[in-house]
Amino acid sequence: VWAQVQQGPPDAILGITEAFKKDSNPQKINLGVGAYRDDKGKPYVLPSVKTAEGKVIQQNLDKEYAGITGVPAFTKAAARLAYGPDSAPLNEGRIAITQSISGTGALRIGGAFLQRHYPGAKAIYIPTPSWANHKAVFLDSGLEVKQYRYYNKDTIGLDFDGMVEDIKNMPKGSMVLLHACAHNPTGIDPTEQQWRAISDAMKEGGHFSFFDMAYQGFASGDTDKDAFALRHFLAEGHQPCLAQSFAKNMGLYGERVGAFSIVCMSQEEKARVDSQIKILVRPLYSNPPVHGARVASTILNDSALNKQWLGEVKGMADRIIKMRALLKENLEKLGSKHNWDHITDQIGMFAYTGLKPEQMTKLAEEHSVYATKDGRISVAGITSDNVGRLAEAIHKITG
Ligand code: PMP
Repeated sequence: VWAQVQQGPPDAILGITEAFKKDSNPQKINLGVGAYRDDKGKPYVLPSVKTAEGKVIQQNLDKEYAGITGVPAFTKAAARLAYGPDSAPLNEGRIAITQSISGTGALRIGGAFLQRHYPGAKAIYIPTPSWANHKAVFLDSGLEVKQYRYYNKDTIGLDFDGMVEDIKNMPKGSMVLLHACAHNPTGIDPTEQQWRAISDAMKEGGHFSFFDMAYQGFASGDTDKDAFALRHFLAEGHQPCLAQSFAKNMGLYGERVGAFSIVCMSQEEKARVDSQIKILVRPLYSNPPVHGARVASTILNDSALNKQWLGEVKGMADRIIKMRALLKENLEKLGSKHNWDHITDQIGMFAYTGLKPEQMTKLAEEHSVYATKDGRISVAGITSDNVGRLAEAIHKITG
């Protein structure tokens, strides 16, 4: 039956993991994975998550189905975290929200909702470059995917003028995906002032904003600061939709905890939107898993635990910031003549090194350092122990 099925290309990240596993060098370094590691290079379960899990188990809850839109105590708290406790649409009860299969599921529900209900063109614009899965998620949702300028390879920074020009040139009422913070893969975010100008350009064009917030708190260590763009757009009268993930900021990767929400004009509009989200989710997966949402909900709704969690998020963000500084410092100590400021200017899990594909191949083949060919390295994979060797390897190939 399947004779006509073509072999697909392997996933880029999984390919790196395979090559890494095969390497017998005891000092090999894997900078491909998009998951946090502690300073010993080990996966990290947040202590607040462990405590919350204990509390959930103690409650001896049943395993009945959640509703189609998930665990209400979780979605309510997730919305508060993103939009802020003072958010007008939140307090006026006009944000439609559903639990989702982490951030990817939120993007997919969003894509499907926009494909069905967004008036006008069915194209969504994503930045160049963007998280590799964005294009696939939106194409599979039945949307057309277009791009806007974002990265300037000459400055290894934001192509702000290009971005704003592209937004201004989009057809009126276009859908635009924006990374709320810690842009993946570049680690380059607009400044607050630039966000204000982006909001103005979006408003001028009557464009619709879709925020992907996969790293709230993980970027700066402050969940409010990382929500600046979203909240500014709201204050400016935009009615965005939002994909949230708790994979990174709570380390709940495999638990698949996320939320998708849409800001509506009124409670009545919200009720209609809600009903359509349910119609969409029901044949997709019926209803979401409960355990991870209960854990996240316990953390968000218990003030002592919430405080502890915020400290732990900051701890992760700070370690990443420190590794960026150490990598740059080591490169400078080795006498590198290149400017490595971008390593510390960028934010979040990833650093876009500016290294070329052939240099990345050399890094792997000659130095057992593995990362994607686009020069993106996961800073989470850097430790106090391996940063010196990593800097040496980068220095040798950039000479
Ligand atoms: N958006 C972006 C920009 C991401 O980097 C990620 C995680 N790599 C996601 C969404 C979704 O991840 P998840 O489905 O694990 O929450």
